[in-house]
Amino acid sequence: MEQLETLWKYQELDLLMDQYILEKKNSELRHQLLKIKNYLVKQERSLVSMDSDATRKNEMLNKLQLEFNSIEERIQVQMEKLKSEDMEFIPEIESLAKEGFQLQDRIRRKEDELKRLDKELRSFVNRIQDIRQRVAKAKEDYVSVKKDYDVEAAGINEELNKLKGQRDKMGSIISNELMNKYRNIKASRTPVMSPLVGNQCNGCNMSLASLMIQRVKDAKRIVECENCGRILFDKESITS
Ligand SMILES: [Zn+2]
Repeated sequence: MEQLETLWKYQELDLLMDQYILEKKNSELRHQLLKIKNYLVKQERSLVSMDSDATRKNEMLNKLQLEFNSIEERIQVQMEKLKSEDMEFIPEIESLAKEGFQLQDRIRRKEDELKRLDKELRSFVNRIQDIRQRVAKAKEDYVSVKKDYDVEAAGINEELNKLKGQRDKMGSIISNELMNKYRNIKASRTPVMSPLVGNQCNGCNMSLASLMIQRVKDAKRIVECENCGRILFDKESITS
């Protein structure tokens, strides 16, 4: 059955293509690219959340500053009152003095809070800048690795296209029925065709009955291995 011999040659090219596809997938450069890409995605995500944190801290700082200013204003107003001449009653002076102490206490606490928040915000902004620098460096790395990878991938793709042309030319003279069978088996195991080695199927190493071996050698029809389902093939039947 010449069809089987053609399918055998088709499979040789098909397996070679699989090797190139695997090589492309396992490329060291490709792994490096994926690693940098994952890093960038992660950092960009954390930068977005850090930026919104920084905005929030900034708003808190502004609010605190406003509170501080308003207490300071209030102190000024009271000081003016104390200095003014229409302040005659001692109870009023006492109450003003009392409020003055309270205001002083409050303003001191606000001042501490302001300092703490300001320091916190500064170190936070520094961290964000540090990440931004790392991200910029990673982006440069990505561009440079991508350039090398593109060259490598183009070489592999060229080989793949050449092989695909040869393989598909071979496939065009194989019956649709046999081609479909090949594709169905390939979806779950590879290689699809298994040569006879002695009295065994080379795919699963099961020993075959002599009647079955004879049928494979006769090659009058397609014989599948009862154990693994591969198409059995007698390599000795290859004519050229
Ligand atoms: Zn088998």
